[in-house]
Amino acid sequence: MTQTISGADAPITNPLDIRRVRHDLKRRALRVLRTLRLSPVMLRVTLTGEALGDFTSLGFDDHVKLIFPGDGAPVMRDYTPRRHDRAALELDIDFALHDAGPATAWALQAQPGDVLDVGGPKGSFIVPTAFDWHLLAGDATALPAIGRRLEELPPEACAFVFVEVGGPEEEIVLQSRATLHLTWLHRAPQAPSSLEPALAGFVPPAGEGYAWAACEAQLAPRLRQVLVGDLSLRRDRVRVSAYWKSGAAGFHEVVAD
Ligand SMILES: Cc1cc2nc3c(=O)[nH]c(=O)nc-3n(C[C@H](O)[C@H](O)[C@H](O)COP(=O)(O)OP(=O)(O)OC[C@H]3O[C@@H](n4cnc5c(N)ncnc54)[C@H](O)[C@@H]3O)c2cc1C
Repeated sequence: MTQTISGADAPITNPLDIRRVRHDLKRRALRVLRTLRLSPVMLRVTLTGEALGDFTSLGFDDHVKLIFPGDGAPVMRDYTPRRHDRAALELDIDFALHDAGPATAWALQAQPGDVLDVGGPKGSFIVPTAFDWHLLAGDATALPAIGRRLEELPPEACAFVFVEVGGPEEEIVLQSRATLHLTWLHRAPQAPSSLEPALAGFVPPAGEGYAWAACEAQLAPRLRQVLVGDLSLRRDRVRVSAYWKSGAAGFHEVVAD
């Protein structure tokens, strides 16, 4: 059952209106169907279970809570539903692997049959595909949302994508029917991110656009500043999120001005 916060059932007067939709919160007991290495640092885990029969995820940057048993309270981490197929009862989660953390540790040892509880999504932020252009940027944790978005854009859409990974071996195949301008950025250990200068050099095309980015928490406000400050994009057409924070566990923040 899906509930609307701001007019999902109301007639859409402007095809560029952004909508938020709330879903009844549900916790599902799933199990691993298969795993697939997309790159040395990206692991896809396909989950399955009867409970996926009513799984709903309407926005490309939706997130589910992966729930890991802990000594005390369960440990939860946010992940993007990269692909879901109700008929096949499948849900893909792509893990950007890093040094430590319960989610990464779980993914690295995941075997078919392993069980995992998944909560949500409890809401969706729906950005129309009808914009003249789409800017998508981020690090490896943003890749699942970016990959999903690129797959849902129609052929008449135009997407500019900047993704920062550790090197060429970490690039993955991204598919889209849209016109795709894809830039891979490579970041050496300890080096500053190139996302900020890359976005600062972006020349917004004519027409109506929407910019989305997700990355580490110290970088995220700087990217927002580039987008709304340097590039003068409309604030309500820019969404930047911190998907993780260096030195902190399980961090999430949508960056405001
Ligand atoms: C809305 C949302 C959607 C997300 N979707 C995805 C997704 O689809 N795929 C994905 O891989 N991640 C995604 N993330 C990011 C993911 O939730 C975090 O990276 C999370 O912290 C990983 O949990 P963990 O248990 O592995 O590490 P934690 O226990 O949270 O952290 C342990 C240590 O590792 C560091 N750390 C955490 N993440 C990273 C990283 N990516 N690189 C380097 N160091 C890190 C932390 O700073 C901490 O010091 C998403 C986050 C949000 C908020």
